[in-house]
Amino acid sequence: MKTIIRNVRVLTMDPQGTEHARATVAVQDDVITVVDPGNAPGAAVGSDVREIDGAGHLVMPGLVNAHFHSSVNHLKGSLDSLPLELFMLYESPADGAVMDPRAVYVRTMLGALEMLKSGVTAVLDDAFFVPAPSPASIDAVMQAYADSGIRATLALDQPNVAEIDKLPFLKDLLPPALRARAAAPAVMDSDGLLGCYQHLLKRWHGAAGGRLRAAVSCSAPQRVTHDYFQALDDLSRRHDLPFYVHVLETKLQRVFGEERLDGRSLIRYVRDAGFLSERLNIIHGVWLDEHDMDLIAEASAVIAHNPICNLRLGSGVMPFRALRARGIPICLGSDEAIADDSINMWAVAKLAGLIHNITTVDYQQWPKATEILDCLLRGGARAMRSPVPIGQIAAGHQADLIMVDLDTLAFTPLNDLHRQLVYCESGSSVRMTMVAGRIVCENGQVNTIDERALRAEAREHAERRRAADAPALQTAAQWLPYYREMYLKAAGRDVGLQRWAGGAQ
Ligand SMILES: [Zn+2]
Repeated sequence: MKTIIRNVRVLTMDPQGTEHARATVAVQDDVITVVDPGNAPGAAVGSDVREIDGAGHLVMPGLVNAHFHSSVNHLKGSLDSLPLELFMLYESPADGAVMDPRAVYVRTMLGALEMLKSGVTAVLDDAFFVPAPSPASIDAVMQAYADSGIRATLALDQPNVAEIDKLPFLKDLLPPALRARAAAPAVMDSDGLLGCYQHLLKRWHGAAGGRLRAAVSCSAPQRVTHDYFQALDDLSRRHDLPFYVHVLETKLQRVFGEERLDGRSLIRYVRDAGFLSERLNIIHGVWLDEHDMDLIAEASAVIAHNPICNLRLGSGVMPFRALRARGIPICLGSDEAIADDSINMWAVAKLAGLIHNITTVDYQQWPKATEILDCLLRGGARAMRSPVPIGQIAAGHQADLIMVDLDTLAFTPLNDLHRQLVYCESGSSVRMTMVAGRIVCENGQVNTIDERALRAEAREHAERRRAADAPALQTAAQWLPYYREMYLKAAGRDVGLQRWAGGAQ
């Protein structure tokens, strides 16, 4: 199959920053073969050639959602804003109902559709499963990604230590009955989890022509045993897989280091254990200090920035400029649909372009639109560790691209393409989404699945799910006062740095 797009403006995102006012882009199978500022190649021949007149449009690399949890795609808008540690009680209650594989498939597909329609061509999914993953639930997620047409890299975000060991102060705050429950071992041990990874790797790594891949995840350093962390690091090294790890998302996690790691930060803990590598995607990094950032730069790890989620959960503002100044690659993520509520990378990019302006009066340090596009596109491609070239409109790169209509209000009049992409576009100007050379969405319609039927089915699953989850949510409320006390105790601690706006305490 061949596609030729003519007369189109092109934002290549190559290292030289090349742009073409008018060019021809040709795609053969899953690869871009020609980007020519003239009008080559010649007239299309053959029935398997699709020719598109791109006049008035822009071709650019597809967006990458570099941090995401598909597990709660069905829960958007479910909760008022709460701090992470309290939020998690409701988001994934330990005794929540098990979801059948079809429901897992449908919820995964909901997210995939939302992303494809707004021009996201690749997602790094850090999926968690309540109470634990299984080959059937892994298959359900990956089958949805296979069917939707999106490029996806899946890891299993599953702790293997008791709840009481993941958090500071909790042991002393909980009454005996709850303390005993919080001290119960994790539902699945490391052997079970590694078995699930074997299934993921064997069945799905490299599937769908290489569009589907595996990653590994420890969720967060304090949520797993050292041995399991080591086993994941080995897997990641052996297969060259991205390694997702949430680090210092909240102030409480900084306090955890003071309380439980002999005063070391979680980044120092990871470094001391020998796991801080260029394969790590360090998620959030809001409460990093200067030394932590030096260590991350030394290791050439990537930071996944999720500014909307960080605001929704009151986590704070990541030190964007201090990270960029060290040359640390930053990618952008929406995080999960219960903590962003829309899965819209344009909104994430816009907020990333704005939120850091309130962290310093030195306006020369504020992010530029070009830097945000660099994070969104180059940073996202970097985070994927793709074995084939990806993330540019250039010959030899994977044909993951979108066509944006420039005859929309967002781009009228066209004053500055980069700024209007970051600050004006909402995704509604995306006219075509192509993944690995296949057009999966055109004029707002995904052509890989019947969206209307899927939405109807999602509503049916939600009805059943609400009833099944009700008891677990009541149980979660029992824990709330103790988690609140824990949160306030950590919030009141002077940790020597501030990531909340206005010096909030
Ligand atoms: Zn996350």
